[in-house]
Amino acid sequence: MSTPRGIAILGSTGSIGRSTLAVIALHPEIFKVAMLGAFNSWQAIVEQAKTFHPDTVVLVDEHAAAQARAALRDCGSATIVESGEQALADAVSGGNVAVVMAAIVGAAGLKPTLAGVRAGKRVLLANKEALVMTGRLLMEEVRRAGAQLIPIDSEHNAIFQCMPAGYLPGEEKRGVTRLILTASGGPFRTTAAAKLAHVTPDEACAHPKWKMGRKISVDSATLMNKGLEVIEATLLFGMTETQVDVVVHPQSVVHSLVEYADGSVLAQLGAPDMRTPIAQALAWPERIASGVHSLDLVAIGQLEFEPPDHVRFPSLGLARAAARAGGTAPTVLNAANEVAVQAFLDRRLNFVGIATVIDKVLQRLDSTPVKALGDVLDADAAARRLAVSLIELSVGAFA
Ligand code: NAD
Ligand code: MG
Repeated sequence: MSTPRGIAILGSTGSIGRSTLAVIALHPEIFKVAMLGAFNSWQAIVEQAKTFHPDTVVLVDEHAAAQARAALRDCGSATIVESGEQALADAVSGGNVAVVMAAIVGAAGLKPTLAGVRAGKRVLLANKEALVMTGRLLMEEVRRAGAQLIPIDSEHNAIFQCMPAGYLPGEEKRGVTRLILTASGGPFRTTAAAKLAHVTPDEACAHPKWKMGRKISVDSATLMNKGLEVIEATLLFGMTETQVDVVVHPQSVVHSLVEYADGSVLAQLGAPDMRTPIAQALAWPERIASGVHSLDLVAIGQLEFEPPDHVRFPSLGLARAAARAGGTAPTVLNAANEVAVQAFLDRRLNFVGIATVIDKVLQRLDSTPVKALGDVLDADAAARRLAVSLIELSVGAFA
């Protein structure tokens, strides 16, 4: 029997991180947890460390790391606890790590994800913001380092599964003419436009089909999640924005589709449960059990498809415009969205105001070419500053 593969999980205490551990727990002979990382949730990570015995735990927050260190020492654990952003990047690059699950939410995940790529690891990408904000730079790093980037986002994982055998993201696509991303439509799919200004963060986070962290739940409600996913698909699979269609599919059973030059359309189906793409990516090119129940098509009965509503959900169009503009536009879109979503979750901005803020930031910051990581980080910081000041100025107008 070969030795288990070492897995590092960035964002282990989040929704994707916990689902990843649930899959790993089914296969102790294949996988070993090498590293767990999160921001400050020390109690949760200590419990995970007691079960999975990683070599290293990293909490970005120093105080939380000290609490975790003391708790693990008290129970005789051999796990080393580190703190700080750089420790995350160092830990994923170690020789004990073969696979990195990139599941930190938002731009905060960029540096450790990039470290995994540069170390030539197999990187399982849930953290779509890291790719959207860096654009082709991240794909170039993947190629240069000989890393493998496997998408975890259910739509992109579905597309990956429908690509020709042996295909990996970043490679030349063969005979593919169009990608069709499915969208659940989110919790407000049938909500009247006039009501959208009054919806609450809890209503926005009550997703009908998927249980996810709060930021991506709000993105799903505005359809910005689908906009980020259009950009993600262009980068992973080398398609233009116009070759990536979006169709609303409320049952969330067909996870996405690939159209070939001969007219064939291949789809991947399954229950809406992230353990399926996680297991697929962990084991690729093999297949392993994920713990997900099998699909009962008769019980589901009907699969419906409808076009997205760009009037009630302008964010998808903003993302498409940013994809066409290229350069720093996707970076600016992502940063403004992160700031606006946080303001909505903190009740400083209403739901409709999220797209308004992003639109204004995109209008005021011209897209510039991305030549190096510094260009990305500068555009990200400028967009955040502008979004914060627009939200502060307009308190009362939006909230
Ligand atoms: P979550 O909010 O449940 O978890 C986020 C994790 O990131 C936590 O472990 C948290 O400690 C960590 N984190 C947050 N800020 C950090 C920081 N500054 N430094 C280090 N760690 C930090 O989020 P989630 O739903 O698991 O989503 C994670 C990523 O996966 C997102 O990019 C999301 O878009 C993507 N994704 C999620 C799902 C899903 O079903 N949840 C599906 C597709 C893609
Ligand atoms: Mg998705």
